[in-house]
Amino acid sequence: AGKKLEGKVAIVTGASSGIGWSIATILADVGAKVAMAARRIDRLQELGVELSRRGGAVICVQTDVTKKEEVKELVSHTEMALGPVDILVNNAGCMYYTLMSNLHEDEWEHQIDVNIKGLTNCIGAVLDGMLSRKSGHIVNMSSNAGRKGFPGLAVYSGTKFYVEGLSQALRQEVCGSGVKVTCIQPGDVRTELLSHSTDTEALKLFDGSGKTQILDPEDIAKAVLYAVTQPDYCAINEILIEPKEAP
Ligand code: NDP
Repeated sequence: AGKKLEGKVAIVTGASSGIGWSIATILADVGAKVAMAARRIDRLQELGVELSRRGGAVICVQTDVTKKEEVKELVSHTEMALGPVDILVNNAGCMYYTLMSNLHEDEWEHQIDVNIKGLTNCIGAVLDGMLSRKSGHIVNMSSNAGRKGFPGLAVYSGTKFYVEGLSQALRQEVCGSGVKVTCIQPGDVRTELLSHSTDTEALKLFDGSGKTQILDPEDIAKAVLYAVTQPDYCAINEILIEPKEAP
């Protein structure tokens, strides 16, 4: 395999499962040194062992992205162990299928904490370094729900609209600085994401019939790899990836 990211340092949040697991894998396989972050350290270590066995330089850092101090430590630990951060993949996220009328307020808050505050904390911890080095790439995991509201996903869609709004504004603020900002907008992907939902009424709205072949995490990881391996002058600002037969 070509080592397109040899020497580059990447942080991938939410690497303990699903899309983040695949992104960490694909980046390590093309030579990036990868810091993998999530709360479930055992899952990170399982992946860490596998990637090290394949020759990857990776570290596992137990991190709750909603805690600013832990995120700062993730970045300082990564810089000490691997070097300055070239790529941040802001992938950690959560989704609860729930109707607003059912008032699952704890689930609303948790999505806001992880998808909004967590993502913002991570940018806050790397931006200064990237600007002073005049290079860096922030990849934010948005969603097709960052372009359109879906019933049952009102708060979730709201959090992903935030990701889009922040990314557009940040991209303009860092224009000319050498820092890139990319949004990845997946449709349905086969991961643990849906498994946390408790609102049975909302879940009934979800078409889990299996009629449409949904995406695999690797499909999204390949899009991230594409975005972070373009020449300096070429910015991949957003990528929408949906299952072929999605409406
Ligand atoms: P998973 O549930 O499989 O993975 C979510 C990841 O986020 C886990 O690694 C989890 O790790 C991590 N995470 C959750 N909360 C925190 C936290 N507080 N601190 C650190 N890490 C956390 O879902 P996906 O892989 O599907 O989701 C990844 C991203 O992709 C999310 O942002 C999601 O919104 C987005 N997305 C997913 C789609 C899909 O259909 N699957 C479609 C569009 C976007 P741990 O629990 O160990 O902390």
